[in-house]
Amino acid sequence: MKTAPDQYQDIRDAVRALCVQFPDEYHRRIDAQEAYPEEFVAALTKAGWLAALIPAEYGGSGLGLAEASVIMEEINRSGGNAGACHGQMYNMGTLLRHGSKAQKDLYLPKIASGEWRLQSMGVTEPTTGTDTTKIKTTAVLKGDRYVVNGQKVWISRVQHSDWMILLARTTPIAEVKKKSEGMSIFLVDLRQAERSGMTVRPIANMVNHETNELFFENLEIPAENLIGQEGMGFKYILDGLNAERTLIAAECIGDGYWFIDRVRKYASERVVFGRPIAQNQGVQFPIAETYIEVEAANLMRFRACELFDAHQPCGAEANMAKYLAAKASWEAGNACLQFHGGFGFAREYDVERKFRETRLYQVAPVSTNMILSYVAEHLLGLPRSF
Ligand SMILES: Cc1cc2nc3c(=O)[nH]c(=O)nc-3n(C[C@H](O)[C@H](O)[C@H](O)COP(=O)(O)OP(=O)(O)OC[C@H]3O[C@@H](n4cnc5c(N)ncnc54)[C@H](O)[C@@H]3O)c2cc1C
Repeated sequence: MKTAPDQYQDIRDAVRALCVQFPDEYHRRIDAQEAYPEEFVAALTKAGWLAALIPAEYGGSGLGLAEASVIMEEINRSGGNAGACHGQMYNMGTLLRHGSKAQKDLYLPKIASGEWRLQSMGVTEPTTGTDTTKIKTTAVLKGDRYVVNGQKVWISRVQHSDWMILLARTTPIAEVKKKSEGMSIFLVDLRQAERSGMTVRPIANMVNHETNELFFENLEIPAENLIGQEGMGFKYILDGLNAERTLIAAECIGDGYWFIDRVRKYASERVVFGRPIAQNQGVQFPIAETYIEVEAANLMRFRACELFDAHQPCGAEANMAKYLAAKASWEAGNACLQFHGGFGFAREYDVERKFRETRLYQVAPVSTNMILSYVAEHLLGLPRSF
């Protein structure tokens, strides 16, 4: 399959060399067992790939978003699922941008080495969903501790992380000028929290994605675990979204190329009516169409990276890259499944697994409608709808 050459071939080759040690059978077995790809994540961590965005002074490799996105893309392109570990790559950005010097000195080197995993981010709540400023989880300062009460849902990788960044309301919404004010973010020691005040209830779901409901009952967090200023947490979370969206776009692009490569090979070999099914234009065209869409998403991904790495505003490009890539990988998955016929449903072909995995990105970490709403309001100047 021809794809445009880029300047990241060295990174691609190195990540591929690692991923090749974890073939389809490995990911298939982990999926069937609903297990965590511990060995795969450990190997990526040991090789330093998940510390790509951590500056060298803290033990990371200080690479840009473009390089980091290529790492995520290659993981998914190899048949793996970066969703098991992408939090380790981007959650630390919040700490890097807004944490105190003491926090950065303490946490970042340990995250870079993999000694600590900061894989979890607790934002979504069951009763408020996408309307984040209405969250009901509260954190009240009592002496040198914040006391947290409330509930979260869909919080991922809690059982495979040491720390979580938690968003909670520290000032009631009725007492702030803007609804986006009065929320704060905290570093939560997950193992300690499980022993006193936090209950974790795993959610069985469509993909092998470890995600949970969390219940907080008087969970105490040391005041020094507040990141940045009290009341500014929502803004800090928003600051991290452009990187997250661009990296997720790259994962979708990796999925897209995986689907296209698989269907290209299968359709060229599968003979029905005396010729390869790929000889029929009814089969060729949907594959060609998704290839065009993945390539277009790829360009938008690199545009977002270029702006981000140049410290320029990139909200529009990051959102559009995520939208295009999630749509393209879904369409590529659909074509791949369709032209595998019945075999698309057989686990041993891995298509159904990747199909389920890539579908998630239309909903999380941001749903497609929220991106359309962003574009409508912020880029097209259409009236605000909520
Ligand atoms: C596997 C998985 C892992 C996740 N991991 C995490 C995590 O680690 N941390 C975390 O905090 N969250 C996580 N999430 C939550 C995820 O970010 C949310 O599910 C997502 O943001 C949508 O929120 P919701 O489910 O409450 O949907 P709702 O807000 O209830 O929305 C439902 C649907 O309605 C649409 N909708 C809602 N309002 C509007 C509107 N005004 N206009 C148009 N459409 C609208 C939405 O786009 C969506 O498609 C995860 C979710 C899943 C499924």
